Amino acid sequence: MSADTPWQGRRYYPISQYFRRRFGERVAKISVSIAETCPNRSPDNALDPCIFCDEWGSAAYPMEKDRALLEQIRFNKNLVSRRLKSQRFLVYFQSYTNTLDKVEILRQRFATALSEDYVDGLVVGTRPDCLPRRIFPLLEEMSQRSYVMVELGAQSFFNDQLEFLKRGHSAEKNIEAVFALARHTHVDIGVHLIFGMPGETPARLIETARIINNLPISNVKLHNLHVLTNTALAQMYRRGEFVPDELDAYADKVILFLRHLAPTVAVQRLAAVASRWDELIAPKWTGQKMQPIDFIENRMRHAGVVQGDLYAADRMPERILLASGQEPNCSG
Ligand code: SF4
Repeated sequence: MSADTPWQGRRYYPISQYFRRRFGERVAKISVSIAETCPNRSPDNALDPCIFCDEWGSAAYPMEKDRALLEQIRFNKNLVSRRLKSQRFLVYFQSYTNTLDKVEILRQRFATALSEDYVDGLVVGTRPDCLPRRIFPLLEEMSQRSYVMVELGAQSFFNDQLEFLKRGHSAEKNIEAVFALARHTHVDIGVHLIFGMPGETPARLIETARIINNLPISNVKLHNLHVLTNTALAQMYRRGEFVPDELDAYADKVILFLRHLAPTVAVQRLAAVASRWDELIAPKWTGQKMQPIDFIENRMRHAGVVQGDLYAADRMPERILLASGQEPNCSG
């Protein structure tokens, strides 16, 4: 395959280019920590946290969670604009689950974020089992005002892996949530996936790409399963029950997935980028900032492969389609 790709020489379709096409210029995300809990951590439910999750619930800047929303937005905007040289921004409600509060409270938060004149939209992080019907009119209302993306923590489309992670939702719920969002709103949809779990085979990675290709989503975000302090995974790691992938093995998985992924699906991230490296136990390569990303893309370059070069426009695997009760041939 030639070095000329539709993505200015990149081997995959990076989200930065997706945003540039959509907004006509560079747009960056400003992360905020506003939501305070999730179903797994709520005292109302007798559930364990996901095995990989530390007490901050995926927050990028947890130390800021006591600051008011506008204060967080303005502070982080200054940090991000210095680092990424962006002028336009999306406010990313990242930590925990951002669709659990009352609709009026959420409306107020979203409106506050959109009140800043450099903000072009919202990104709302949530789980597939936390999208009650009452939330759809609000998401639709916001998407009429501005750009809105919902990022769904699907993590896997295999129930044994979701049970391993202690997610508390099923693979079928992942599919249902995406179709419900697409049916009731016009929001953009992104899906988070974790690679590096037990039971991961090449066939499963290919099937994951096929499922994604059949969903009405625009992007995926990939994370390698890594071990942070004070997590259940850290205890498993110490007992020898979990061994994280080496970078070579992880890169091969990502590349296989990308080769089967439709070239129209943008990729937010190729590997985890933790904000709190002091909490990282393993694998150490995860802490090397951009190096794993460069490693994966260079490996693709050397192998002469690109995202989608093995993509076949086929139907979603029957097992998950039938289990979720969806009609086939929904456009992606
Ligand atoms: S990963 Fe999300 S859903 Fe799971 S325990 Fe952490 S905040 Fe809760």
